[in-house]
Amino acid sequence: MTDAIAIVGGDAAGMSAASFIARSGEDAKVTVFERSGVNSYAACGLPYHVSRDIHDPSTLLVREPSYFTSKGIDLRLCHEVVDLDTTAHAVTVLDRVSSTSYTHHYDKLLLATGASAIVPPVAGGHAANVFSIRHYDDSIALVQYIEQHKPGRGTVIGASYLGLEMAEALRAHGLEITLAEGADHVLPAMDSDMTGLVHSELVDQGTDIRLGEPVVELEQGEDGSVCAVRTASARWECDLVVLGLGARPNIELASKGGVDIDVTGAIGTTDTMMTNVDGVWAAGDCVSSSHRVTGATVWIPLGPAANKQGRVAGSSMIGGSARFGGVVGTSLVKVFDLHVGRTGLTETEARRLGMRVASTRITADDIAHYYPGSTKTTVKIVADATTSRLLGAQIVGRAGVPGRTNVVATALQAGMSVGDLADVDLGYAPPFAPVWDPLLVAANRLGPMTRKAQP
Ligand SMILES: Cc1cc2nc3c(=O)[nH]c(=O)nc-3n(C[C@H](O)[C@H](O)[C@H](O)COP(=O)(O)OP(=O)(O)OC[C@H]3O[C@@H](n4cnc5c(N)ncnc54)[C@H](O)[C@@H]3O)c2cc1C
Repeated sequence: MTDAIAIVGGDAAGMSAASFIARSGEDAKVTVFERSGVNSYAACGLPYHVSRDIHDPSTLLVREPSYFTSKGIDLRLCHEVVDLDTTAHAVTVLDRVSSTSYTHHYDKLLLATGASAIVPPVAGGHAANVFSIRHYDDSIALVQYIEQHKPGRGTVIGASYLGLEMAEALRAHGLEITLAEGADHVLPAMDSDMTGLVHSELVDQGTDIRLGEPVVELEQGEDGSVCAVRTASARWECDLVVLGLGARPNIELASKGGVDIDVTGAIGTTDTMMTNVDGVWAAGDCVSSSHRVTGATVWIPLGPAANKQGRVAGSSMIGGSARFGGVVGTSLVKVFDLHVGRTGLTETEARRLGMRVASTRITADDIAHYYPGSTKTTVKIVADATTSRLLGAQIVGRAGVPGRTNVVATALQAGMSVGDLADVDLGYAPPFAPVWDPLLVAANRLGPMTRKAQP
């Protein structure tokens, strides 16, 4: 009998699942409901549309709807799933074009509802000149606003990786930028001793940084637009606000269907992306994952995991054996001319978990020092002081950062020790790396420290 598979959410996780099922040749009728007017948009590329590195936003649409239709997938754009009855195996769908609702029955359901940007619960948070960047339409709206209103002063709230990307994107339009962050350093997900270079880069590129005080009010002018930002002790004027405060998983539909929400606030699944409810799977930014270093349940919403989880869910829904093995929290960000990577645990995170930690921070040439274009890279490695097991790394430099970050991610997944990392046979040629790669320099420095466990 043909299975009726319903998928809620038409971006990375949802369309990966749909494509996997369609390619498998299994006898299944796949229907995808996407509440917006587009599917398969590259959210990670949105800041580069705002910055005008990418002029035509439609290039961010990875696949046309017709591609999926030709594969037999019933893709329904502008169709929002507004209710879920897991007993009746039915979803209620609102057609946002005709404003009519209907019931759709499924045998198997995938929730791939993603996440939504956090809007601060302060006055003015929803004003017309306050922008979140989460969906394809958001960057188009922001660019249109900038082109029409020609704002001179912008404030970015939140110095997360997205906040920094947006600060850079707005600078490209010539806006004066104030970056407001409640924590005491930019990129709060990194150790503070690794973010000084990032802070300096932002300042050098003309960003005014305000740290240590949350925004308490977005002051509105007579027309309702935000005209100033207030913290407990400061006030500054602005013409535009962009939020970089992170996101929350979209779990409302799951909750309506009795699907378990775990300690992270996201949907809990097995490694085949099954939820606790019979016939319901979940994948992408709406679910938690297992952390490969700590074994803990974490919510780290990033693109590669969403795509992989979508594939695994697709496989599992048609009886396949694929499994999602977890994450190590690898992320990369470009901040003007600086490249930043992190993977695994920071020192702060490891200490918070009660681990006995050893760490080292080194600065070394990123390629042979005599080769033209050589610059410095800073590497911090964190390890378990007792066992010498590698726990994580953070890297800041102008070249070679993604490759080195990914080497450590691989080492973390393999459960390597600091000594193992120091032994890795990394490639060397003057234009690409020094004979002692910065990773090896750091591992050699940290090795003896981990053998002498610090209290
Ligand atoms: C600006 C930005 C930059 C990013 N940069 C990076 C990066 O550099 N590297 C990285 O790894 N990750 C990055 N990410 C994260 C990455 O984009 C996400 O992890 C990924 O898009 C998650 O895919 P998803 O399908 O789970 O969720 P989403 O992309 O959020 O898609 C969920 C979809 O479900 C739809 N939906 C939700 N509820 C319903 C409903 N009830 N009915 C119908 N449709 C519904 C939504 O409209 C949405 O299209 C970035 C994200 C953003 C926003």
